[in-house]
Amino acid sequence: MSKFSDFNFKGHKALIRVDFNVPLNDKFEITDDTRMRAAVPTIQKILKDGGSVILMSHLGRPKDGPTDKYSLKHLIKHLGELLPGTTVLFANDCIGEQAFLTAGMLKPGEVLLLENLRFYKEEEKGDENFAKKLSGLGDVYVNDAFGTAHRAHASTAVIAKFYPADKRMFGLLMEGEVSSAEKVLHSGGKPFTAIIGGAKVSDKILIIENLLERATDIIIGGGMAYTFMKAQGGKIGNSLCEGDRLDTANELLEKAKAKGVNIHLPSDSVIADKFDANANTSAAPSNNIPDGWMGLDIGENACGQFTNVIHKSKLILWNGPMGVFEFPNFQHGTRAIAQAVAEATKKGAFSLVGGGDSVAAVNQFGYADKVSYVSTGGGAMLEYFEGKELPGIAAIK
Ligand code: AMP
Repeated sequence: MSKFSDFNFKGHKALIRVDFNVPLNDKFEITDDTRMRAAVPTIQKILKDGGSVILMSHLGRPKDGPTDKYSLKHLIKHLGELLPGTTVLFANDCIGEQAFLTAGMLKPGEVLLLENLRFYKEEEKGDENFAKKLSGLGDVYVNDAFGTAHRAHASTAVIAKFYPADKRMFGLLMEGEVSSAEKVLHSGGKPFTAIIGGAKVSDKILIIENLLERATDIIIGGGMAYTFMKAQGGKIGNSLCEGDRLDTANELLEKAKAKGVNIHLPSDSVIADKFDANANTSAAPSNNIPDGWMGLDIGENACGQFTNVIHKSKLILWNGPMGVFEFPNFQHGTRAIAQAVAEATKKGAFSLVGGGDSVAAVNQFGYADKVSYVSTGGGAMLEYFEGKELPGIAAIK
């Protein structure tokens, strides 16, 4: 693979796999353009060098071929606004004749956006012929779509083999994602604290198991903490619980003990009498929640307990909220953790926040620029930290 920043794109046609899977409202207006903005530095560097750019992406989950609802044509106008002064062309079929003719005539400094890759079933199937056809559109392949790096699709992984090693590379976004993730897993900085939250233990077992090999401390919050509490004999009322994961929870605790990893569970909780933004609230020890009540956030003592651990850390990974932060009455814990991570970062720790909900939380609470790195890839990030090799990364390497 080549290093993107060292490559001179002058005279090259770069085919970039971007993740433009942005949310659209029913008027086809983009409601969050984060993913598009994230690709701009990569595009700009190529244009500035004197190259041209062909962008390919998926949008949504079209089932039966071309559908207006999932057309990337809805993104043309905004893409033009993000690249002022740049000619942005569109091909209404990613491998159609028009796409090849337009790509062939593309001049340095111009951008061509291709129609939704997933209008072809071959994309998700990782079809070789489809990938080969796509590769005919540009002479350099750049993967800048970390969000789909865990999928072995035609445009994210299979296509790479049709380029010589020096003509395939990560874009700037992907480079940043990969180097931040590698720093967390391999730099060896200690103490290394992983903060894992969210709803379900079952979604996070593999990541916890892999982190047991590396972390010094693992903080467990959110709904999943109550499965651990119950497994340890606690009373959890109506809190979220995966009855079929009680043994798993105990096994994870035993493994941690054997490996000398400190697991921190929330000592207390903010409890509610129903799952509702306006529920009545109270406080209780997390292992003694009254019948009819449920834990929807970590409590005041737990915030202090977790903050102390985070403040001592040199390396921090955070995936998953500490409570139902979508409801204002239950966001205190997630906000306190965001603040503690920001403070540790200010003191020199390296912190990576990833996973849809924790990213939404740091954005919402204004801490996004106070942590070291905010990952754009939910599923991809989780799989990376589960220790899996991501096809999109492996194919480039
Ligand atoms: P995940 O997608 O597994 O990271 O879970 C995120 C979701 O977990 C968010 O929508 C939170 O509202 C939810 N969550 C966090 N803590 C709790 C809790 N104590 N009870 C129920 N849901 C929770």
